[in-house]
Amino acid sequence: MSNKTLGLSDRLYNYLLSVSLREPDVLRELRQETATHPMSQMQIAPEQGQFMALLVQLMGAKKTLEVGVFTGYSSLAVALALPPDGKVIACDVSEEYTAIARRYWEAAGVAHKIDLRIAPALETLDSLIAAGQINTFDFAFIDADKSNYENYYERSLQLIRPGGLISIDNVLWSGDVADPAVTDNRTEKIRALNQKLHQDKRITLSLVPIADGLTLAVKHS
Ligand code: CA
Repeated sequence: MSNKTLGLSDRLYNYLLSVSLREPDVLRELRQETATHPMSQMQIAPEQGQFMALLVQLMGAKKTLEVGVFTGYSSLAVALALPPDGKVIACDVSEEYTAIARRYWEAAGVAHKIDLRIAPALETLDSLIAAGQINTFDFAFIDADKSNYENYYERSLQLIRPGGLISIDNVLWSGDVADPAVTDNRTEKIRALNQKLHQDKRITLSLVPIADGLTLAVKHS
């Protein structure tokens, strides 16, 4: 996976950042700390965080879902864009990674907006569905284990309101999805979801080639 926008020369990518990135200090500090982490590639690109924050602002979103927190960059970018009474329900299995996230949520003054659920995300999503929260979320970001991508999508589609937006990360998978020689399980799962969404009549679809590829799916009524 890539945590910078694919397919741009370094020169053009750096230009894009130089004329558009407005990264708050707290996000920059989190990105710098995460860069020293062995799994740092799991962090989203800063231009993607800014794009997602713009979408959340544009929608006037208040209630959002995140599947896969890691060290908290995307949840922090979204939480900063939410109104004071906005909420992120954030799913992850790692106490270790999310301990870093919590520190930065606190530092940014948005910890009260983020409800972190440490459990397998499918369990959390199923509990939200069972609790009657179908059709109540404005926005969801899916960025966790690729083997469950389709399951996360189907549950998120139930939880999102009509007109709400699901965003799905890593759908271009460093370009491997377009290379027939690559047939590992994770690549096949992403390919299968991309093909399914292309035919899915329940959504309006756009695959945006920002960072490692971000699919946007708006739920129909
Ligand atoms: Ca990702």
